[in-house]
Amino acid sequence: MPEQKRCLSGIQRTSQQMTDTVNFEPGEGLLALAAESRFGARVVFNEPLAKHCSLRIGGPAAVWAEVETAEELVELARAGEAEGLELTIAGLGSNTLFPDEGIRGIVARLTGELAAFEIAAEADDDTAVMRIGAGAVNAHVVRALHKGGWVGAEFLALIPGTFGGAVVMNAGTKEAELSEVLLDVDVLEPDGAGGYRRSTWEPAKLGLSYRHSEVSDDVLVLGGRIRIRRGDVDEARQAVRRDKARRNRTQPYKLASVGSTFANPKGDYAGRVIEEVGLKGHAIGGARISELHANFFINENGATAADFLELMALARSRVRHRFGLELRPEVRFVGFDGFKRMLEYERRLEEQGC
Ligand SMILES: Cc1cc2nc3c(=O)[nH]c(=O)nc-3n(C[C@H](O)[C@H](O)[C@H](O)COP(=O)(O)OP(=O)(O)OC[C@H]3O[C@@H](n4cnc5c(N)ncnc54)[C@H](O)[C@@H]3O)c2cc1C
Repeated sequence: MPEQKRCLSGIQRTSQQMTDTVNFEPGEGLLALAAESRFGARVVFNEPLAKHCSLRIGGPAAVWAEVETAEELVELARAGEAEGLELTIAGLGSNTLFPDEGIRGIVARLTGELAAFEIAAEADDDTAVMRIGAGAVNAHVVRALHKGGWVGAEFLALIPGTFGGAVVMNAGTKEAELSEVLLDVDVLEPDGAGGYRRSTWEPAKLGLSYRHSEVSDDVLVLGGRIRIRRGDVDEARQAVRRDKARRNRTQPYKLASVGSTFANPKGDYAGRVIEEVGLKGHAIGGARISELHANFFINENGATAADFLELMALARSRVRHRFGLELRPEVRFVGFDGFKRMLEYERRLEEQGC
């Protein structure tokens, strides 16, 4: 154990040197946009991203915006482009690791009409279609469904996040995943001439598989439609309560995490193999692998993104040596190449024989 500590603190010093925190001075275009009364106080500068994700990690976004319509989104993207800033959408940040140095770009959350939902059409007495804005919170959607006597999306109820995040992650549980109920999605995609075009994508175009989609970073999901059905709402509510009890028993559900850090390898569990290599409860800096569930990495005490990535690197490296398995991160690195940094930490661990 003492040998291990020496190795890891060596890596950590290097990672801290990499940080040079974003401190953005907006140009006239963005300042004018932020000052417009219709945007209210929904566009702010140098906003700490740690405030906007479940892990509570991340430096400032040059621009943080709450956007209510597709038109606003395009307008914001244009204003940002004029100042060399790319636009990324954040849901609730419940599957996101932001970088310690922050993001020299625009991070937008979808609200207003982009977070609204409604029953769009009743196909017949027993089935219907629900239209959901990408910014809508999963739990709110499921609650509204049940209130109206509809069922079919219970698996989403306890997945913290937005509908847009669920699309990009093909969110799900052992019971079901989004691809099973998704009919189509509305997106803004680059039009090849520096702007965006709005289109509707069939699920096949999203390339959905287990906790994965082929939606590229420059595609902005505006919303989508799911299939719902008439059913026993009491039973559906009970299923949600059972899921809640299971999570509270087996996961540190209320602590700062991204849920599963790694996707489960085929036929096995990431938590099981991480536990097998003796890392349950292991901490680096302020980040710790949960004692309750070894695939949940917790921000226990002011963790940095570097702490989190080092812990991931250590788990991947140990699991590779012992089981020959390559753990795939389920967490998304937003605004930086976290995968590359994690590989760099892995390389140093190997070099130091840790
Ligand atoms: C305690 C806990 C338990 C969890 N349990 C589960 C579980 O059971 N099953 C499961 O699948 N996940 C689970 N998760 C992970 C997480 O909740 C899901 O991945 C969720 O779908 C992420 O949604 P979000 O809105 O927070 O996405 P974010 O983390 O904000 O974003 C995820 C990615 O999607 C992109 N994105 C988000 N919205 C859009 C959009 N509108 N357009 C384009 N790109 C977009 C972001 O840029 C980012 O790359 C859990 C997380 C926690 C903290």
